[in-house]
Amino acid sequence: MTPVRYDVSLAGHRQHMLEIRLRCAAPQGALRFGMPAWTPGSYKIREYARVIERVQARAGERSLAVRKLDKQRWELAGAEGGEIELRYRVYANEPSVRTPAVDDVRALLHGAGVFVFVEGQEERPHEVRLTDLPEGWEVATALEPIDGDESAHRFAASDYDALIDAPILCGRLRTTDFEHAGVPHRIAASGPARGFDLEAARTGIERIVAAAGRLWGGLPYRRFVFLVLREPGVRGGLEHRDSTVLGAPPFGLSEPERWRDWLVLAAHEHFHAWNGKRLRPEGLGPFELARERHTDALWAVEGITSYYERIVARRAEVLSAEQLMDGLATLIDRVHSTPGRRVRSLAEASFDTWTTFYIRDEHTPNRTVSYYDKGALVTWALDLEIRRRTGGERSFDDVLRAMWRRFPPEAPRGYRSAELEEEIDRVAGGGLRPLLEAWIRGTEDPDWQPLLAPFGMRLERSESGERAWLGVKASGDGARIATVYADGPAWRAGLSGGDEPVALDGYRVRAAELAARLEDYEPGERCTLTVLRGDRLLEIAVTLGARPRGELRLRRREDAEPEARARWERWACAPWPE
Ligand SMILES: [Zn+2]
Repeated sequence: MTPVRYDVSLAGHRQHMLEIRLRCAAPQGALRFGMPAWTPGSYKIREYARVIERVQARAGERSLAVRKLDKQRWELAGAEGGEIELRYRVYANEPSVRTPAVDDVRALLHGAGVFVFVEGQEERPHEVRLTDLPEGWEVATALEPIDGDESAHRFAASDYDALIDAPILCGRLRTTDFEHAGVPHRIAASGPARGFDLEAARTGIERIVAAAGRLWGGLPYRRFVFLVLREPGVRGGLEHRDSTVLGAPPFGLSEPERWRDWLVLAAHEHFHAWNGKRLRPEGLGPFELARERHTDALWAVEGITSYYERIVARRAEVLSAEQLMDGLATLIDRVHSTPGRRVRSLAEASFDTWTTFYIRDEHTPNRTVSYYDKGALVTWALDLEIRRRTGGERSFDDVLRAMWRRFPPEAPRGYRSAELEEEIDRVAGGGLRPLLEAWIRGTEDPDWQPLLAPFGMRLERSESGERAWLGVKASGDGARIATVYADGPAWRAGLSGGDEPVALDGYRVRAAELAARLEDYEPGERCTLTVLRGDRLLEIAVTLGARPRGELRLRRREDAEPEARARWERWACAPWPE
């Protein structure tokens, strides 16, 4: 079958322009082509077609008329066999892990934002050739180099889905390679050389790969590439089948805590090579990219992965047992201060992510809950329950392995939520159904102290007593109230997200200073907050509420029984410190 071939010229990199020439076989009748509306792994309609311009088509020497069908599809007629050549330009200036960007220092070709698909030819082999690369630039991608020659910058994908699931990073890259279990891995980083220790990255990631491979019983890919995009404002990562794009700040990453967090991010995205990319809920591959695809099981893709990023990092010695416990306690604090966890269950938060999580406003924490965070907590609670009920014989690891056997990568469809819950219940030896119902389809929190006690752990506050509480969250720049928590003191008094605090009881204050200023107040006291709402100045009287002081911490109990200590040791992958 004639492949669909793209030549991508980077001659316009300083103008953020990619010039693309596509050649494919002309079908009988009209040829339609289009751009995806979203990209797998990021559940938001991004309208990638908006950056396409100057679409032209020809057959041999003859120009063909191009007609636009809708916001993201085009049609041309009259080719009558032979080959069609399409040309278009992409304005690529949105640096993130999920959008294309090109400038004078690097190019990230994020497939869904660069390559049009040809209707009816999506299953054919696809080829990409990069041309006009600036002097000294290299290319890193999980795509297969044609004839094994990486320096020719020609790559092949088995079909369109595989093409757009393998981003291409170009620039003056720093790369390092390692093998694990005979499988080659590459780390390629853009950005300044200073502040990113490539050898330390390799050591950490190699251990992460080994720990994840042990858990699942082998690596599922023939090659894996970690693409690191180091620039201001690029955060998070995006999973792909045989690669991942990891954001990283250009500065400050050598600070130990930030470095650890970054390695945990790498563990998260790598874990998706199994959970999410191959073991996946029904509907998440093959993809329908023209419109939203809803699933109530996104919590399993992201929540399970958000728990296991920590567990794998612990087993890889990237996190200590204490750091693992500190992180989970912080997670409980965060989820328990989200009123929206009572409004949408994990299943509902998953289903509605397109409109209630990826599109955010000041009310978001009141209407939904992060299925990453709460999903991680529920996975942890289930892991503890399985371990306790089976006398340490089994853990959530066994759920993952059972699902992997039941839904191998070549399975004709993904799993349904009921099938996942069935496996969880079966691995636990039965009896977990009511908890699954309450935690996944209901809005109940796991009851932590009884879950933790058999492992010699308990939750406690770093300080005792209560403090005055207003019930607002400051915006990132510290000037405004980002969110007013539903049913809290500020909510009842009529404060609003977006309000700009000016004074507290007549003294100047910024939103970011409110919590510290309220240290001088007692719960139940009244105060007056002066705020700007748009151009209006308002005085709002608030009766302060109460919140426990200090941070939530996860502690080992000194009086833990030997049996509990042994359970903790297996879970935390560490000896009980004497
Ligand atoms: Zn993820």
